[in-house]
Parts: sequence; structure tokens; C-alpha cells
Amino acid sequence: MSTSNERLPQSTPHLRVGLIGDPVIHSYSPRFQQAALDAVGIPAHYELWHTPALQLVERVRSLCEGNCLGANVTIPHKEAVLPLVDHVDPLAERIGAINTIVHRDDYLYGYNTDAPGLLHALAEHGIGQLSYDGKVSLEGYTAILLGAGGAARGAAFALTEARVTRLIILNRHLERAQLLAAEVQQSYDGPVFSLSDPTFLIPHASSIIINATSLGMHEDASPLPAEVLGRFNTDTFVYDMIYNPTQTHMLIQARTMGLRAANGLSMLLHQGALSFELWTGMAAPLAIMRAALAL
Ligand code: NAP
Repeated sequence: MSTSNERLPQSTPHLRVGLIGDPVIHSYSPRFQQAALDAVGIPAHYELWHTPALQLVERVRSLCEGNCLGANVTIPHKEAVLPLVDHVDPLAERIGAINTIVHRDDYLYGYNTDAPGLLHALAEHGIGQLSYDGKVSLEGYTAILLGAGGAARGAAFALTEARVTRLIILNRHLERAQLLAAEVQQSYDGPVFSLSDPTFLIPHASSIIINATSLGMHEDASPLPAEVLGRFNTDTFVYDMIYNPTQTHMLIQARTMGLRAANGLSMLLHQGALSFELWTGMAAPLAIMRAALAL
């Protein structure tokens, strides 16, 4: 089958795109990306490319092969691929991490779709205003960002790009929160606070609490003590970037307290949809991708 999109190589029947990381075996991406490619009739296979650090340069170079559309990049290579591509999108540059590589006209372009993916997910849950050009505004909201690792970096830049009214970064190691706060403050003139002790958190109206730590993935624990979560009123939205397990300790606690809450599957969906659009130049079939994730 041929595709009508001139962004895609026309001569090669079997196109490839895949996920670069270590490990990759547990990824949900093949599930919904393959469903999307099949749905729009692009004869491409979404593959899992397990890549130890020593093979990263060779792997990225292989994306320049004629039949390759590009790749997703996951842990632990999102930062390391930055110097390996030809062009880095300004947002990815500011975040310091790439999760999507596009192969176009013999060049490799690096993007970060985790950040806008989070904003699209929040908009889907009724948080913020999504405009016709795909931009989300979070004016009037206070964001409490838990974590200062890779995912939190993307979130911090996304939230400030969306003009959140106030950003509070809470991380176990205070110096990482302070460093991230100082970095986002360079391109954002609103207030940014850093904390390591959650007991100092003061609730604000229209708060969004975002867990970007890995706490809750492997243990029945939450980065926010119940008594701190209990201070927030019912217009608070709690978002846990963790999607496996689908119900974390923090989400269960939030829902028990009557707060609206969601897990990270919606962010996974939207970052993937944006990657799909960058590789193919076509609108992502969101309903099909969503169904493939059983969302
Ligand atoms: P990372 O770079 O390793 O950062 C881990 C963060 O978790 C750091 O802020 C770390 O704090 C904190 N942390 C780890 N263990 C902790 C503990 N026991 N108590 C308190 N804080 C702890 O990881 P990442 O790449 O940012 O990923 C974070 C999470 O986001 C993962 O669960 C990942 O699956 C999820 N994620 C989801 C999506 C999605 O599409 N839904 C996308 C990206 C990531 P310190 O700095 O103090 O060590």
C-alpha cells in the first residue's frame, strides 16, 4: 500500500520506526503506535530497539537509513541523544531532553513531546484552556510539581510555557529542585518556589498536583503525606505521571478525599500522538490510539 503523504519516503514498502531505550520491553508504545500506523495505512513497523549506552551512537546513526521515519527515546538516553542529532527543537533544547527523533531529508531532528503531551493530557481532564493552535493556557492555576528528574524538567518547562500562575517544585533533594527552579525562571517571570519538605506546602485555589517522581511505581507509597494532601480543597486536580500501576497510592488517597485525579496514561497517549504527527505529517488517529491503550 502506498501513502499519499509526501513527508514519507514513497519508494520503500517497509518503513521502520521504533523505541530506543534500556530497557524497552515493558513499553506500551508499540501497542498504540502500531495501531495508529495501521489505521492510517502507513506500511511501517514500530519496533523495540533495546540499546545499551555503548550502542547509542550507532543506533542513532542507523536512523538515517532510507526506510526509517525516526524514533522515540526513553530512559536512560533522553539527554544523551541531544548532541547526536543534527537539529534540536528550541523547547527540547531548554528542557535538555529529546524523546522524539525525526528522520527527514537525511537529517535527524530532535523534539520533546513529553512536555506538550502533559499539557494536552491536562486539557483533556478539563485543566486549562486549549486554543485552536494546540497551545494550552494554565493562567490562574498553581502547579505543585513533585520531583526534579527528567520528567519533572519537561513538566516544569511545559507548565511555565503555559503561563501557570505559580509553580512550586517539591523534591526529596532540595538542591535539584532549586536548580530546576533557577533554570525555568530564566524564561518565566512568574513566581517559582522550591521545597523539599512537603509539610511547608500551603494550599492555593485551583491547584494542580503533578507527581513526576517514580515513587509509587514499585511501592505502595506517595510523595505527599496524607495530611498534606488533605489540606487541599476539592477544586484541586491530582495527576500522577505513573501509569503502571494504573492506581497509585497517591491517586487512591486523592480520590478518597474527593479530589479529581488521573494517571499518566493520558500523557503517554498525547506525547505519542505528537510524535506520530512529527514522523508522518499526518493527524494522529487519537481514538484508535486511545482504544489500543484501553483508555
Ligand atoms: P528520574 O529522572 O529518575 O527522576 C526520579 C525523581 O523521583 C526524582 O525527582 C527523585 O528525587 C524522585 N524520587 C525517586 N525515588 C524517590 C523516593 N523514594 N522518594 C521521593 N522521591 C523520589 O525519573 P523520570 O524519568 O523523571 O521519571 C519519573 C516518573 O515519571 C516515572 O515513574 C516515569 O514512569 C514517569 N513518566 C511518565 C511519562 C508518561 O508519559 N506518563 C513520561 C515520562 C515519565 P531525587 O532527585 O531527590 O532523587
